[in-house]
Amino acid sequence: MSEPTVEELKRWDRQIYWHGFTQMAEHEPFLVERAEGCSLFDTEGREYLDGVSSLWCNIHGHRHRRIDDAVRAQLDRVAHCTSLGAGSPTTVELAKRLVDVAPAGLEHVFFSDSGSTAVEVALKIAFQYFQQREDPRPDTRPEKIKFVALDQAYHGDTLGAVSVGGMERFHATYRPLLFDVHRLPTPDAYRLPEGVSADGALDHYLAGVEALLAEHHREIAALILEPLVQGAAGMIMHPPGYLRGVRELTCKYDVLLIADEVAVGMGRTGTMFACEQEDVVPDLLCLAKGITGGYLPLAATLATDEVWQAFLGDYSELKTFFHGHSYGGNPLAAAAALATFDVFEEEATLEGLKPKIARLGEHLCRLAEHPHVGNARQRGLMAGIELVDNKATGTPYAWEERRGLAVCDHARSLGVWLRPLGDVVVVMPPLSISLDQLDRIIHAVEQGIEVVTKKR
Ligand code: PMP
Repeated sequence: MSEPTVEELKRWDRQIYWHGFTQMAEHEPFLVERAEGCSLFDTEGREYLDGVSSLWCNIHGHRHRRIDDAVRAQLDRVAHCTSLGAGSPTTVELAKRLVDVAPAGLEHVFFSDSGSTAVEVALKIAFQYFQQREDPRPDTRPEKIKFVALDQAYHGDTLGAVSVGGMERFHATYRPLLFDVHRLPTPDAYRLPEGVSADGALDHYLAGVEALLAEHHREIAALILEPLVQGAAGMIMHPPGYLRGVRELTCKYDVLLIADEVAVGMGRTGTMFACEQEDVVPDLLCLAKGITGGYLPLAATLATDEVWQAFLGDYSELKTFFHGHSYGGNPLAAAAALATFDVFEEEATLEGLKPKIARLGEHLCRLAEHPHVGNARQRGLMAGIELVDNKATGTPYAWEERRGLAVCDHARSLGVWLRPLGDVVVVMPPLSISLDQLDRIIHAVEQGIEVVTKKR
């Protein structure tokens, strides 16, 4: 068969390929033909800086020699074997490596293949844990079947993950398919509830958590949250201390804590795991996206020994975790993940982030002065720049105007690839971004904001 032309590919991309989170009636193909470091190259050979890490996945840049070589070497051994009752040495090594780097106390790893499945696994483990743990508290055991989640939560697109998700625009359609969860208000440090000051926000939000747990803990198995930053909700940042407070309350009320670090893990917030910043060890920790450096689909759900013990027993007791994905723990992906952790050490990636985080902070301080930037927020190398119609009141633009998208389109014309969340312009480059590249990304965003907020 002859090679398809670029025109043919674009036609097929419009007519056949059904893209996620994309209105196909208006889809304009953007085909990444190759990539190098922090740059993407399209089929016309144009270069774009990867300002959102290929949707929050890429860590050390594209085509990193160390990771490329590791995947190639694994290809010479075995590309895939099942994780159901078997495994590859590479995947076993990764399990040990994860336990070594994760917050102490997380001692077991269940592999799957996406952020959504990592969350499904965590939810099902939490549920089953309370059905079969040793010495269950007789008053609580059978009823602990519910979950607590945050408003505007996003944990993936499979139905369990959507049930704990709380983003109306994405999730409302599926409501009849979902299980009920207890909701807590988004602990937003920018948009505060009426009558609550910035200083009082933490106490206010934690009082809400305590009130809910005090009333309903007997029926609650777990509380799930994204530590520190709610990414897909628009880079909403929690007040410092919230995660710590939630951990203390979940312990007090015998509720498991599930930390979804699919977006915030792997160095994005400045430490390997976001939980480290508040000295928190969750009962279950979900990882995906950057775990392979953004190379291949792999996910991990880490669990404490206490959770693991509840699943051990004679086969006839049926305590087995009856769950497993065909490609969970895939060896090629595991090889990429091991190399990703090697690069963290060899290149002292976390140490090298400090000046980049500081530079991003300086840029955001300047951007925050713009009359249509309501808030420019940052945790590590994750940033959200929120456009508003009225800065004094924080009134948003009409969402249908898609101003955030217009800013990103403008940035793209300047050679920077971004994808917004509503009117929040997200900047989340690979950790390997240089200071100069970071400047170029922000410069493009700045230009975009100028142009797009001038229009009425
Ligand atoms: N959890 C969080 C916090 C996420 O940001 C995402 C994806 N953006 C997911 C889960 C789902 O991951 P995936 O797309 O790999 O299923």
